[in-house]
Amino acid sequence: ETIGEKLELTTSQFPDRDALVDMDSNRRWTYTQLNEAVDKVATGLLDLGVTTGDRVGMWSPNTPEWMLTQYATAKIGAILVNINPAYRSHELAYVLKQAGIETLVSAESFKTSDYRALVDEVKDDCPQLRNIIYVGTPEWDALAATAADASRINDILVTLDRDDPINIQYTSGTTGFPKGATLSHLNILNNGRYLTAGQDITEQDKICVPVPFYHCFGMVMGNLGAMVHGACVVIPAPGFDPSLTLEAVQAEKCTALYGVPTMFIAMLALPNIGDYDLSSLRTGCMAGSPCPVEVMKRVIAEMNMEEVTIAYGMTETSPVSTQTGKDDAIDLRVSTVGRVHPHVQVKIIDPATGRTVPRGETGEFCTRGYSVMVGYWEDPEKTAAAIDSAGWMHTGDLGVMDDNGYLNIVGRLKDLVIRGGENVYPREIEEFLYSHPDIADVQVVGVPDLKYGEELCAWIQMRDGATPLDAAAVRDYCTGRLAHYKIPRYVVIADEFPMTVTGKVRKIEMRATSIEKLG
Ligand code: ATP
Ligand code: MG
Repeated sequence: ETIGEKLELTTSQFPDRDALVDMDSNRRWTYTQLNEAVDKVATGLLDLGVTTGDRVGMWSPNTPEWMLTQYATAKIGAILVNINPAYRSHELAYVLKQAGIETLVSAESFKTSDYRALVDEVKDDCPQLRNIIYVGTPEWDALAATAADASRINDILVTLDRDDPINIQYTSGTTGFPKGATLSHLNILNNGRYLTAGQDITEQDKICVPVPFYHCFGMVMGNLGAMVHGACVVIPAPGFDPSLTLEAVQAEKCTALYGVPTMFIAMLALPNIGDYDLSSLRTGCMAGSPCPVEVMKRVIAEMNMEEVTIAYGMTETSPVSTQTGKDDAIDLRVSTVGRVHPHVQVKIIDPATGRTVPRGETGEFCTRGYSVMVGYWEDPEKTAAAIDSAGWMHTGDLGVMDDNGYLNIVGRLKDLVIRGGENVYPREIEEFLYSHPDIADVQVVGVPDLKYGEELCAWIQMRDGATPLDAAAVRDYCTGRLAHYKIPRYVVIADEFPMTVTGKVRKIEMRATSIEKLG
């Protein structure tokens, strides 16, 4: 199969099928209606003077307007810049300036975030910012009601190249400050397509997407991945809510559900999960951070997601590089991140020497192919540090591949703990501690130690009603089952872990606060 070209909604193939359902506002669009709505917004943006290559910022939780803006910018060759809904003024100003955003489409507010006040605080600092449009106000309504000029849009569409940038996505900021990955039409259109093809998604499917659109999981794997096959996107709520997600699945008879592991953990923890009718579910996708085997098994058994896949990737690679298949043996489906995607090359190297390691040995995972980003936006230095001269993206993830090509991510290079000269992969210890009946969630980090260089600290969330474990009890549980150097020396009991808005644990913060908490 060949690589696709430019972005195209599947309007012509499936004109009357549902394209988008928003549970929060109780609105729905067929493909024809969605395409018409997108053309209006696109024409409105052209009237505002937005042209090919201009950056249009999108700052909002998940709403239909998010998607209208996404596809409208794509049609006129503007570059959509996804802005994290959790940002505050300092980060907002950084992104507005760094990406040179001239037009900003924003929610007015969401939950405790007053977006308008934050924009007011920074806009004088951003002279290039010409247009600010708040969704739900008369300015947005006017934009969205512009008489669509299809021929003007088409004139632009035919000039666009598949390698033109379409999107700047900031990474999650798990290991440091977010970096703006510039992605092309070729990058994301095809990645979304292959990800959903790996789940046999067709126009018969409805995908429930509670993951934020601001991130590639929601935007590329979720809504773009649905659109390229004529499937329907269901937005359960603007922000993640486990009950509303399951209600949406039940009400719309969704066939697929996406989520990061923490979202599935939250849904499985609902005391009334058994009351929801999830019989329509067939597949879905878990990705974004390590997917615990126990959670995968429960998703299959208790949520009816027999064919659920795990995907692995990163913003810089559009994002997906590997995915499990529904026909894989069950133990591989729950315990690996699957095999390499079409048109993607991989190698695993010794990060110290750059040499490829033998099959079965752990090293840094590198990928090459259509999916590698154009580069970090206006940051040639960081780009050169990530993508080498031969085109290999160095992911910073440690992986190991078996004889049949199944990949396991054993951790991040930055999270690797070296205790007394032994490499310790926190992931392995986390997986083991999950088996403790009183532990709901666990993360392991390295903390500085004079004698061993680093020592292990386990952060533990107890199950409801369970007595908190102390370090001695945790060590007892591990003794005889884990090698001595893998047994955590310290334990921190926490109600929650520091998280990114994409649902990833910020170990960088845990490492710093472990030291404070332990005194
Ligand atoms: P930053 O680069 O800003 O520190 P980030 O790497 O978390 O943040 P993303 O691009 O959102 O930003 O996430 C990509 C990373 O997420 C991967 O490099 C990998 O570490 C992790 N990841 C994604 N999917 C999986 C998976 N299925 N299993 C394990 N880890 C995963
Ligand atoms: Mg990263």
